[in-house]
Amino acid sequence: MAALANPQNTLAVLQKYKFNTQKKYGQNFLIDPHVIDKIIAAAEIDREDFIIEIGPGIGSLTQYLCEHAKEVLAVEIDKNLIPILEDTLQGYSNVTVLNEDILKVDLSRILQEKRGFRSVKVVANLPYYITSPVIMSLLESKIPVESFTFMVQKEVADRMRVGPGTKDYGALSLAVQYYAKPEIAVSVPPNCFIPRPKVGSAVIKLTRYAEAPVDVKNEKQMFRLIRASFNQRRKTLTNGLGNAPGLPFDKEQIQEALAEMELPATVRGETLTLEQFAQLSNLLSEQFC
Ligand code: SAM
Repeated sequence: MAALANPQNTLAVLQKYKFNTQKKYGQNFLIDPHVIDKIIAAAEIDREDFIIEIGPGIGSLTQYLCEHAKEVLAVEIDKNLIPILEDTLQGYSNVTVLNEDILKVDLSRILQEKRGFRSVKVVANLPYYITSPVIMSLLESKIPVESFTFMVQKEVADRMRVGPGTKDYGALSLAVQYYAKPEIAVSVPPNCFIPRPKVGSAVIKLTRYAEAPVDVKNEKQMFRLIRASFNQRRKTLTNGLGNAPGLPFDKEQIQEALAEMELPATVRGETLTLEQFAQLSNLLSEQFC
């Protein structure tokens, strides 16, 4: 089967199978081979790699992954795409297509059964409606993945890599930066997809840290503090975290910990670094738990 990633071949496949793209599954298929080359280069895929692709669609990116990697597991939720993928990927013996929801697949069990790979990498043109849940569940699952290379909305890519003091900084930035180093590889305009999305996109690579960049005693508590801080972004930390649901601290205890960090009681979460959130969480645990 010829390379699919151009407008003519993509339209020909869609027509052949009378396939209508589904908005509810975030189906925007890549039609620009240069963008796919950039995804492959950013992911640094080689012949020893096991690749997990989320949402192969009609197989445009999958074909390139099969050309470059040792083996590819492609997880696709839409059952109507499975016969199409059987056709478009028939020339490759190193790909398995799984008709599942990526949020329900037990990847750690699948990876335990796999042997003989130097590294596991996740690559995807992500369905935009589940970008954050997919990224967070993969990072938190601690499956042995070296890097994640994702096409996402440009705005979401920006949110993942910014630091304090910017409007895009929030819980997603801190969670991603706790687990991985984010780097934007390339911006991608809407005309590189069929159908065209309404917003610009970007390819972001997240390289997982071998060790977390900050020392935190209770990860879960730190993330509860982070979420509560950004749930009510305009509130001071004292008001936002004191007596917040799921957190056992009152306003005085928050103030005391902030004072120990030499921060004013009026400080807001959006100005704190990851290191400061870790320090705040550790102080609260030591003194009040
Ligand atoms: N990789 C293809 C490409 O680049 O042309 C398609 C990308 S399209 C943006 C997203 C794909 O993810 C679609 O094929 C969609 O059906 C699939 N998808 C959506 N939700 C999914 C889920 N929860 N699990 C697995 N695949 C999903």
